[in-house]
Amino acid sequence: MTSFNPISIFMDARRVTRGTPEMIASRQQKRLNELVTFARTNSRFYAEKYRGLPDVITDVRQLPSVTKTELMERFDDVVTDPSVHKEDVYKHISDLRNIGKPFMGKYMAWTTSGTTGTPGIFLEDKNWDAVITAVNVLRMGGEWYTMDVIRGMMKAGGNSASVFAGNGHFLGVTMLERQRNSNRSRAKRIRLIPVTLPIHEIVKQLNELQPAMFAGYATALGLLAQEQVDGRLSIHPSIVISSAEPLSPENRSLIKQAFGVPPRNNYGCSEGGVMGYECNQERMHLNTDWIIFEPVDSDHNPVPADQLSDRILITNLANRVMPIIRYELGDRVALSSEPCTCGITLPVVKLEGRTDEILRFQSSGGQIVPVLPLALWSVLKETPGVLKFQAIQTAVDELKIRLEAKHSEECDEVWQRVHASAGDYLQKQGLSNVSVVRAPEPPMRDPKSGKFRNIWVQKVKS
Ligand SMILES: [Zn+2]
Repeated sequence: MTSFNPISIFMDARRVTRGTPEMIASRQQKRLNELVTFARTNSRFYAEKYRGLPDVITDVRQLPSVTKTELMERFDDVVTDPSVHKEDVYKHISDLRNIGKPFMGKYMAWTTSGTTGTPGIFLEDKNWDAVITAVNVLRMGGEWYTMDVIRGMMKAGGNSASVFAGNGHFLGVTMLERQRNSNRSRAKRIRLIPVTLPIHEIVKQLNELQPAMFAGYATALGLLAQEQVDGRLSIHPSIVISSAEPLSPENRSLIKQAFGVPPRNNYGCSEGGVMGYECNQERMHLNTDWIIFEPVDSDHNPVPADQLSDRILITNLANRVMPIIRYELGDRVALSSEPCTCGITLPVVKLEGRTDEILRFQSSGGQIVPVLPLALWSVLKETPGVLKFQAIQTAVDELKIRLEAKHSEECDEVWQRVHASAGDYLQKQGLSNVSVVRAPEPPMRDPKSGKFRNIWVQKVKS
């Protein structure tokens, strides 16, 4: 496998950022061919899947699509390094001390649930890492870290705080721990604040740390912006970065009002890494020189610009160890036919909000306590034996959980653990009065939208 050269990736990406659509198309074509040839030669799964197709692929649509379930079931056949085995990867990620440490000394591993509810594990090789690093430094760095921001960060002492889920090998925390591992002298200044802590505890830690850079999930940032407006939180970051959840217009303006800086937003997933970033016009540009991005309907027909897709197919042109080619994601997006006025010519996409919601319970003292969806999600997802779940607030003091265990015969045992971990989490938020009840039905897609949601509020009776 030839290694990618970070400097030439950087220089090339710089030419493409404000280049022509033809420049993107020619790179996609060349990189796709290299990827497909590599996958056919080194992955038993793709060799089978592509049998009978032409040697040279001229259009990504000649290739069949793949799903997470397929890739997980045939993990050992999918990966292109024969020494990688699913069982060993599971062993690696079951130990939380390994967060940010490479599997077999060379591959980063992370987990996801995503929109289908099926858990996944993904491996990142050094090529992909080189691409992500070069593209992020160039594009997000160049756009977001203006001289004002850099000056502000230096003045504020350069501490950074990320409010992420730290109880699993999720993309955000894995990247953060890797950054800390690679720079021990700065590690103390790079702080992870677990999103699963009660809000007042997160506020306390932020007040102590006074971060110059502050990152988190959109719903957490919105809640913390309200804490700042109400006067309990008092921090003065030079840059605020929102990720993993869509940033609603309300949260965007609240964050701006609270911290005096516009939130910076990116769009990513475990399978594609950072796929897009917002420019100064608050529009999301896609890194289509390294990700082929196809908005499609439910039958995988292409959806024209300015129309909302039902899902997307992504092809990660950088990663070799675990090829992601026409991989289905449940995101609903619309590509924009209007070029952006900022001068960046990478395509612009509008994302439909993902559908998890902040739950608001009432404590026994009558206080309303918010529960962040990604915090509760990480607690439930990391409970041993859980395959799929949905958590639904059904009253001010009731949380209903639909559960599917990895092994159906263990469902009662897994429920006991889920009941305990959810109860423990709620108790730490001051909500020991909230009852956690088991739904008789299994997790399922929303009958109207066809989407799989993890966490939402049903009708709350008081
Ligand atoms: Zn723009």
